[in-house]
Amino acid sequence: MVDVTAPRTSCATCSISGPTPLARFRRDSLAWPPMARQELWRDRGRCNRARRARDAAYDGRFFTCVRTTRIYCRPVCRSALARTDNVFFVPSTAEAERLGFRPCLRCRPDAAPGTAAWRGTAATVARGLRLIGTGFLDSHRVSALASRLGVSARHLTRLFIQHVGLSPAAVAGTRRVQAAKRLTSDTDRPLTQIAFEAGFRSVRRFNDAFRRTYKQPPSRFRQSRRASTIQPDG
Ligand SMILES: [Zn+2]
Repeated sequence: MVDVTAPRTSCATCSISGPTPLARFRRDSLAWPPMARQELWRDRGRCNRARRARDAAYDGRFFTCVRTTRIYCRPVCRSALARTDNVFFVPSTAEAERLGFRPCLRCRPDAAPGTAAWRGTAATVARGLRLIGTGFLDSHRVSALASRLGVSARHLTRLFIQHVGLSPAAVAGTRRVQAAKRLTSDTDRPLTQIAFEAGFRSVRRFNDAFRRTYKQPPSRFRQSRRASTIQPDG
């Protein structure tokens, strides 16, 4: 089975590049060394630039308190930008609350990366990703996955979008098509057999998904793979 957790770089044969959703999720969750977290908020210029750019790389690293509204936000908040004169920055949600600020209802800073709520939901997503990695969604609906994890299907999808950037179904689809690609290129098994082994419910779905992802049908992909492996390496 394909390991969807492994980081991958761009592939010469297909259009997919960059880390897998889980690799990206891990990278984003673990990106901040504690010291950097503690000190960044003191750099007013940098925080303000990040806030104005709504830079997601700074999400969870500082929070913006708006004096006029007494509300605090994440750097990524989509609300209208408060004037620079009216804001200051704090390192944590706890500090904002201590100063009497309320969390913004739009960007939900209490669920920002690094907070207790974030770690809780991240753990749910990590468990979900592990189950999807074992093929759970090849034979169950998303609602079954959600109830296994103790949340509603809608909430689970929201958490996946928030943490991974893809719905559970999309993660499962990526996993299936990657498994199929590996079997197509590394084995001589018939494509119909590969479709079911990779977790597709029909050959048509296998063909459609493969074509959508790799811009060619699996049969042509296999032929071009064969042709390229005959050539000597450099
Ligand atoms: Zn906000």
